[in-house]
Amino acid sequence: MSPTVADAFVANELIRLAATPVSKEAAIREACQLLIAAGCVEPGYEASMISREAVANTFLGHGVSIPHGLGEDRGLVRRDGLAVLQIPGGIEWNPGQTAKLVVAIAARSDSHITILRRLTRLIQDDARLERLFVATDAGELVEALTQDEATVAATAPAVDLPEHFTWAVEYPVGLHARPAAVWVEAARGSGVRIQVRHGGEIADARNLVALLQLGLRAGDSVTISADGEQAATALARFRSVITGLTAQEKADAAKAAERAEVPVNGWVPSGAPRAIVGIGASPGIAIGVVHLLTAAQDDIPDVPVQLSEGGNLLHEALIVTRQQMVALVDDTTRRLGAADAAIFKAQGELLNDSDLITLTCQLMVEGHGVAWSWNQAVERMASRLTALGNPVLAARAADLRDVGRRVLSRLHPVLKTGSLTDVPDHPCIIVANDLSPSDTAGLDKDRVIGLATALGGPTSHTAILARTLGLPAIVAGGAGLLDVANGTPAIIDGQTGRLYLSPSEADLVSAKSWIAERARRRATEEAERGLPARTSDGHVVAIGANVNRPDQVPLALREGGEGVGLMRTEFLFLERDTPPSEDEQFETYRGMIDALDGRPLIVRALDIGGDKQVAHLHLPHEENPFLGVRGARLLLRRPDLLDPQLRALYRAAAGGGDLSIMFPMVTSVGEVSALRAACERIRSELGAPCVPLGIMIEVPAAAIQADSLAAHVDFFSIGTNDLTQYTLAIDRQNPDLAAEADSLHPAVLRLIRQTVEGAARHKRWVGVCGGIAGDPFGAALLAGLGVNELSMTPRDIPAVKARLRGCELSALRALAERALAVETAQQVRALDSLS
Ligand code: PEP
Ligand code: MG
Repeated sequence: MSPTVADAFVANELIRLAATPVSKEAAIREACQLLIAAGCVEPGYEASMISREAVANTFLGHGVSIPHGLGEDRGLVRRDGLAVLQIPGGIEWNPGQTAKLVVAIAARSDSHITILRRLTRLIQDDARLERLFVATDAGELVEALTQDEATVAATAPAVDLPEHFTWAVEYPVGLHARPAAVWVEAARGSGVRIQVRHGGEIADARNLVALLQLGLRAGDSVTISADGEQAATALARFRSVITGLTAQEKADAAKAAERAEVPVNGWVPSGAPRAIVGIGASPGIAIGVVHLLTAAQDDIPDVPVQLSEGGNLLHEALIVTRQQMVALVDDTTRRLGAADAAIFKAQGELLNDSDLITLTCQLMVEGHGVAWSWNQAVERMASRLTALGNPVLAARAADLRDVGRRVLSRLHPVLKTGSLTDVPDHPCIIVANDLSPSDTAGLDKDRVIGLATALGGPTSHTAILARTLGLPAIVAGGAGLLDVANGTPAIIDGQTGRLYLSPSEADLVSAKSWIAERARRRATEEAERGLPARTSDGHVVAIGANVNRPDQVPLALREGGEGVGLMRTEFLFLERDTPPSEDEQFETYRGMIDALDGRPLIVRALDIGGDKQVAHLHLPHEENPFLGVRGARLLLRRPDLLDPQLRALYRAAAGGGDLSIMFPMVTSVGEVSALRAACERIRSELGAPCVPLGIMIEVPAAAIQADSLAAHVDFFSIGTNDLTQYTLAIDRQNPDLAAEADSLHPAVLRLIRQTVEGAARHKRWVGVCGGIAGDPFGAALLAGLGVNELSMTPRDIPAVKARLRGCELSALRALAERALAVETAQQVRALDSLS
């Protein structure tokens, strides 16, 4: 093999075999003497190398150390070179770390990186390294350090291990991260070495990145082989694991295809652009470019730290992130199911990738800061995956960046994950794995024109906030959403839950005219939003707004709200470290009453539990929080929460206004009696006036027993978000089932009818404050079912009012009868065009 320029680094005279230095320092001096003798460095370099040891750890791992001079002493390097001291007996480099190959580096520029890359490759080949530790021919070491990767690939034919079988990939979307993570787990647990060969490419089945780099697509033929004593049994078990995944992979692909085929009721592009199908979470169409939420690489400051300190920081960040990933897997499994959790398992696996960690270490060894090095390593590996032009690998690049950001935020806490600070100043659609409600709330509406998340459900608070902000949003778009390249032009349709990518000119024109048409319609609706929701035959439905803070009341009134039908008070408890005091609560309730200036206000008592968890309340962990101590159950167990809230409310009522109190997630008459008793005790203590007391109907038991409950309360407000969840047994946060969690399901409508009938027996009124109240068709149906009040996100009010004003009550009643009689939610929705 003829030496290349880089190969001139290492030569036989720079190798010393079977060395026996008495100490680490002696080893460094001996290696440096070789560099000096070969004319690579000035004598002073020796001292520089020793000094570096005092400030940095140059042990790379696997018995290899890489001493080199301080950066400021580069002037002592005459020419680049590598000297290798082979110490078969080993020398303690650091406590617990033994070096058998001391690779002394003299490098003036970034040729360092080349050397380190080669060492990294060697470090991963344990068998070869073991041979090099005891080799008796210096040529072997020279060869190992001079072959570049291309040569290795060309000279090392891809050979199968003794036990093997051939398999054609049956997964419709190829070997992507989720199944690959299962392969890795199976290979690691097998106790033998398993490798996968595709053509001339081989991957160790224990290495996720290597497996993914094979870029296997459906139909590709692979040879899977193993060696070791139990190879045959282990391979059979491995085979059954990988073939066992096929059914789930096919089902997932079929489901994705099915979702894409559901007919769209709304704007339809003519050019059939590629569409990501999620769940519509906030209606509206907008045109912009995709902005993937990733921390900008350039923003990571390069602040060098001592290598040992950097190593410790990295180690801790990786441990904490791995723990986070385990918790995330547990949490996601519980909330969304194992299939969705698998993506985080695969992401967690990426943290164990030795290439990634070594690359980071190499960069740190070169003197870069730990956060910068980590980010570089992630970016380089991710770009390598993206560069292969395979969509499966591009998705893994996104995973790598995603999990990389988690580690980064530990290394450099100011760099928050999913930062929204780098949003460009032109209209963009934020694409993210998920957004916290505070992220959503803090969005700059001048730049952000839509939101699309891979996770989340349509009744999640993020979705509710997006509706409040009037931003089109889709949720549950799936992991495929994160493969979309930054800057891709797109049209988001929050009604149908679609993100259309790279639309044609014709589609852009058609979307623009649709947007303009909607704007005209909205303008008409807005012009009449101040009028009551009176049907053409004179029936009036009261319209409330769902708002939580006094400063939101003016907007709610402007939109046509006639009062507040739902004030969720848990917002007073979230995002802070201690519960709000009675006085603080009083101020807020009084502020609401004053802002409403005589209009009705319904305050819902604290509804904690389920998806709303508050750390400072120290609630016990529950396996199924939605079925646990939530809402009224919690209030009755925690007088420390209930009493101050009721005191604050009655004190606010004493100052005048139209206040009602409502209790969440009530299941029984016993709870109502206990809550009423608490109210009465506090009211009489304060000498406050009586106020109407109502309950939310959110549980089938309450709807079915509405006639009994109505005897004990002044009103009902139906929480259709939860009523749907509990009736259909669909976790409201499960994106996989979100499309089926339709509040217009006939089963839910029948419970609403039962609630209305139960209330009527005692002449009580019934409202609906769940999301469906803000859907014009849903509102029409609810009015037809006999609901007296609808309370919704303020922005939904004008369209709901317009819809009700355009109907006759008799037609709405007939519509409701038809809806009660059909079998599915789709059939109910199909009645929309007939109404
Ligand atoms: C509901 O469940 O419909 C409701 C209005 O309450 P929340 O969404 O706060 O649970
Ligand atoms: Mg609820």
